[in-house]
Amino acid sequence: MTERRGDHLWRPYTQMKLAVAPLEAVATSGSRITLADGRALIDGIASWWTAVHGYNHPHIRDAVSNQLQRMPHVMFGGLTHAPAEKLAARLAALLPGDLNHVFFTDSGSVAVEVALKMAVQLWLNRGVSGRTRVLAFRGGYHGDTMGAMSACDPDEGMHRRFGAYLPSQVFCDLPRTAAPEAALDAAMAAHRHELAAVIVEPLVQGAGGMLMHPPEVLATIARLSRRHGLPLIADEIFTGFGRTGSLFACEQAGVVPDIVCLSKALTGGTMALAATVATSEIFSQFWSDDPAHALMHGPTFMANPLACAAANASLDLFEAEPRLAQAEAIGARLDEGLAPLRKKPGIADVRVLGAIGVVQFAGTPDLAVLKQKFVERGVWVRPFGDIVYLTPALTIPEGDLDRLIAAVCDIAAAPE
Ligand code: PLP
Repeated sequence: MTERRGDHLWRPYTQMKLAVAPLEAVATSGSRITLADGRALIDGIASWWTAVHGYNHPHIRDAVSNQLQRMPHVMFGGLTHAPAEKLAARLAALLPGDLNHVFFTDSGSVAVEVALKMAVQLWLNRGVSGRTRVLAFRGGYHGDTMGAMSACDPDEGMHRRFGAYLPSQVFCDLPRTAAPEAALDAAMAAHRHELAAVIVEPLVQGAGGMLMHPPEVLATIARLSRRHGLPLIADEIFTGFGRTGSLFACEQAGVVPDIVCLSKALTGGTMALAATVATSEIFSQFWSDDPAHALMHGPTFMANPLACAAANASLDLFEAEPRLAQAEAIGARLDEGLAPLRKKPGIADVRVLGAIGVVQFAGTPDLAVLKQKFVERGVWVRPFGDIVYLTPALTIPEGDLDRLIAAVCDIAAAPE
C-alpha cells in the first residue's frame, strides 16, 4: 500500500480500496462549495440536508463568533447556560402540543438512541417489564448507532451484517397512498405487550430512498399508536425545519408525537447538535423521588454552547425570513422542472414534497459515473441506490436552482 493524500482518513460509507479520491472543499458560501482547484459547485443537497439558510450565513457566523469569545464549551452535568436554556424554550414553543422537555445530544443517531432509551425506560419506570421492542417501518433510516440501526429497514444491505448484535424490532410496511388501518392495527395488537414505542419518519423516509407518504397515513399511525397505548417517536431529523414545507412534517397531519428527534438543520447546518424532545406526559414518567427513574444518558459535549448559539441564530432566521414560503416556491419549481422526466424511458418515478425533488431510475445506474457527470456540470449531488435527489438550501437563488434542475434533467435522461 503506497501512501497517498488522505490515507489517514477513513471516509463514510466508502470502500477505501476502490474509492476515487474525494474532492477537496476549501470554502462554502450561499449555495456554493469552492474546491481547491478553484471550481465552484452548486450544492444540490445542502450538505446532507442541513444548510437550510445556505452556507456561512453571517447571522449564524456572528452568533457563533460571539459565543466563541465568551464560552466555547462547558460541561452540562450540574451546570447550565443561557444558549441552551433559550434554545430549549424556543423549541418547546415551536413544536406542536406539549413537547416541552428537551434533551440535547450531538448527532441524529444519538438523538434516536435517547428516544429509544426514553421509550424503554418509561415502561420500566411504570413498573411494566418486557416492553423492549419498537415497531418500525420498512424503508426507514434512523442512524448508524446500534439502537438506531436496529430500527432501520431490515432488508437494507448497509446494516444487515450487524444483525446478530442488534435488538430485534417489529417491522411493518408503510403504505404510500391509503391509510394502513387493518394491517398496522393487527401488528400493534399482536405485539402490544412487548412494544415500547412506534418510530416513524414523518411524510418522507429519507436515506432509505426518499419514499413519501401522505399526511393521512401519518395521522393513522398516530391514531393507532394512541389506541394501543404506544408512544409515537417522530424522527424529524431529515424533515424538521422547513424541508417538507412546514416547520415540522408532523404539523401537516395534525399529529403531536410523544417524542421528537431533531438534528441536521437545527443549527442551520453549521454545528453538530441534536435534540430529543418529549411531551410533559413522557417527562412525568421520569419525575420521581427514585434516582433509578432518572434518564441515564449524558454525552460529554451535550448542549455545546457554540452549537446552541448557532441553533438560536438559525431560529432567528426562520422568524425573520420567509423560509417556508421559499420551500414552497422551490417545490413548485422542482415539480415543474422535473416533470418532463416522467415521460422518459429509464425513469421509474419523479416525486416532489416540499423542497425535496426525487428522480428514481428504472434500474440502478453507475453511481460513480453519474456523480462525475454532475461535477463536470458544476453540480454537487449524491445519488444513491436508484435515485438522484435535490434538497437545496431554502435560500438558493432561482438561477442556481434552475441549473440544478437542468443538470438533473439532462443527466438522468442519459445516465450512462
Ligand atoms: N434519522 C434520520 C431520519 C436521518 O435522516 C438521519 C441521517 O441522515 C439520522 C437519523 C442520523 O443522523 P446522524 O447522521 O446525524 O447521526
